Amino acid sequence: MNMDVFCYFVVIFTLTNIGDVIAETKNTTFCNSLLREYNDTDTINDVVDVGITLTEALLLVICFGVFTFILAKTYNLLRVKVFMDKDNLDTDFDAGGEVSVGLTATTIVSQWTWAATLLQSSTVAAKYGISGPFWYASGATIQIILFAMLSIQLKIRSPGAKTFLQVIQARFGKKVHVVFCFFALMTNVIVTAMLMLGAAAVMTTLVENLSLELAAMIIVAVVGGYTFIGGLGATFYVSYFNTTLIFIIILIFVMKIYNEPDVEDNPLGTPDKVYNLLNCAIGPEDNKDNSYLTFLSRGGLMFGVINVVGNFGTVFVDQSYWQSSVAAKPRQGVWGFITGGLTWFAIPFTFATTMGLAYVALSTANGEELLTEREINEGLVPPTVAYTLMGKVGAILMTLMILMAVTSTGSAEVIAVASILVYDLYQIHWRPYRAVDDTRSCLLCGKHRDRADNIDNQCECYSMSQCKRCWIDDSDRASSKAAVLPTFKCPMHGPYRTYLEVLIGKKNWCIFWVAILIIPLTLLLQAAQVSLGWVYLFMGVVIGSSVVPIALTVFWTRLNGKAAVIGTVGGTLCGLTAWLVTASTFDGGLRSGVFLANTGQELSMLNGNIVAILTGAILTVAVSLATNHHMTDEQKEEEWEKTRDIDNPLLPWADRYASEIGHHDSTRLSNRPELKLVEKTFKVAKIAAIVSAVLLTVILIIIWPASMIAVNVMNATEFNIWVGVSQGWAWIGAVFIISVPIITEVYTIVKQVIRNRDNQDGEQKLNKDRCLSQYTQTNQACMYDNEEINKTAF
Ligand SMILES: [Zn+2]
Ligand SMILES: [Zn+2]
Repeated sequence: MNMDVFCYFVVIFTLTNIGDVIAETKNTTFCNSLLREYNDTDTINDVVDVGITLTEALLLVICFGVFTFILAKTYNLLRVKVFMDKDNLDTDFDAGGEVSVGLTATTIVSQWTWAATLLQSSTVAAKYGISGPFWYASGATIQIILFAMLSIQLKIRSPGAKTFLQVIQARFGKKVHVVFCFFALMTNVIVTAMLMLGAAAVMTTLVENLSLELAAMIIVAVVGGYTFIGGLGATFYVSYFNTTLIFIIILIFVMKIYNEPDVEDNPLGTPDKVYNLLNCAIGPEDNKDNSYLTFLSRGGLMFGVINVVGNFGTVFVDQSYWQSSVAAKPRQGVWGFITGGLTWFAIPFTFATTMGLAYVALSTANGEELLTEREINEGLVPPTVAYTLMGKVGAILMTLMILMAVTSTGSAEVIAVASILVYDLYQIHWRPYRAVDDTRSCLLCGKHRDRADNIDNQCECYSMSQCKRCWIDDSDRASSKAAVLPTFKCPMHGPYRTYLEVLIGKKNWCIFWVAILIIPLTLLLQAAQVSLGWVYLFMGVVIGSSVVPIALTVFWTRLNGKAAVIGTVGGTLCGLTAWLVTASTFDGGLRSGVFLANTGQELSMLNGNIVAILTGAILTVAVSLATNHHMTDEQKEEEWEKTRDIDNPLLPWADRYASEIGHHDSTRLSNRPELKLVEKTFKVAKIAAIVSAVLLTVILIIIWPASMIAVNVMNATEFNIWVGVSQGWAWIGAVFIISVPIITEVYTIVKQVIRNRDNQDGEQKLNKDRCLSQYTQTNQACMYDNEEINKTAF
């Protein structure tokens, strides 16, 4: 058995030819009579003319739009009437950093559910059999689970950071920052490209007479509208709705394919029927016994490796996941990522085990493939199964599902690009608020914070949450009906708040243009004949190299900027070289007619991906060790002080997490808890994150698949168990993701309502009201309890 496993891994790197998918069937008496039966009853519908009309499609989109709008309004109403924090600037960007476990999990599930999650996972099921869905699911779940470690580490070492690029800038300076901005933007472009390729292929297939241009425009309109209506806050609510609907539709398909025995016109309906057809189908050549029912699939395993590498890139380098981490409370973030990852597992695993295998079964029953190989690579397996089995209803369900998957991820990507353009490029490089090079000095007053050598030149700024002048500004602006709102008059925070308003304006324009630019991108890719499957396998070659440098940015003190850049750029170059060299060994080499086919071969992609991530890691570590010989304790400490300097001067992180960390007098910008105290506070959460992430990763990509090798080719009972596991997982995931967020959210709202009624919300509100009424009577700001603050403010 050990030897078997070994040979199996060796074989991957030596064989070069990939078996094609052919709907041939095994020539046994049982299979012959089974297929004759299917041919006689002719249960497979003629599939062409059950499409959705254009009017119906538009109606569907409009209904979805209206519903989203209502959800967003509800959210805003809750913020204004119940939580009364609409004016807090931070809510716009990260929902105040107070998002609960359930909602964090929901956001992650919906962001991580790409069009590819549904389409590509079914493609690999159709190509490699039962191992495809598993590899897709496990190879993309572990990154989310491992991200829990990064999430808590970020909260410890850089609690004020909003993007991972800020951390890179604080540690390594502006030049390194630009390099990583480039990689981050590239990741967003690749992910967006995949969304559009998948969604456009499905929409143009299912909707009659829908041109690619119109499909792209419809999708962009939905994504853009959703982003504008939402802002990040409402996105949490809409994500919840999306995820719920996706799970419900998956379960409908599961019921149809595996749990509908004794229905006349359903050719499938029980695991046994599916099993018999799969067992009669002749699978890819390099699968054990040419069977779809085995884990011993060379293609499947190769895909598994590529999938693991590629998805590390799209999680770790994609700003939108860091965004979810920033938005969550520190401890909640950890469990949000872990439960989110485990819930998400069910989406590709169950969906592809259902739809992808149903496709193989239907093709077998049909006597010939329902799709060409190119159509399979475009992601058309699930829609084909949906309308073959369920006609128009199936087509509508599939369209809805794809719309759900595209809108939340698409909007997260658009926001991520806009944030990088505005908060990283514009704010840091082009038009900074204050041109300071060291992160130590206060952004508001330019003086030193903390660690100051000169006491006279110490910053005395404090959090906006305590600033009475800002309350007056807010109330003036809230009551103003003028087209141009009154200017901010607070001498301490006013100018910076004005600057932020400019940034928000820029960001809105960025969102608009980025969304529009998606249309030409889609048309360009389509003209280049690139398929979803190709881009999916390719992503790791380009961005894989930056994964390790980025992870080490929050973990390793000795990492330096030079090493990070050499690792990232060098890794990508090596990856591209390995990819092209492997592709050139196939028939026709890199000539234009066969370029996409040869570079798209699993082996080319596998080599490119592995070389990219490994050289990225090796170069980064080696250069760091070689150039950063010795660091004194002070230097080590200073390295993380730099990242702790990153802060929002209006609401410093020390103030935001004051109750969690147990730190007093945290409203002053110059006073923040020591790193040791923060570390101690989150020590348990950090250990829990590391232990569960590593453990689950080992189970998902080593123990489970290794034990499947022992199963060899599945028999009917084993297949029943396998399908049972996939269904059970989907049911548990659905119950969790549908019930937990709504329960915690309702609980929080009820608690807040009770608190509002009892007016226990504390002195602050009381003070605020008193202060404001005094101001209206005397037209003079109220006196402060604190002399010193008074001096600074006026
Ligand atoms: Zn200051
Ligand atoms: Zn102020």
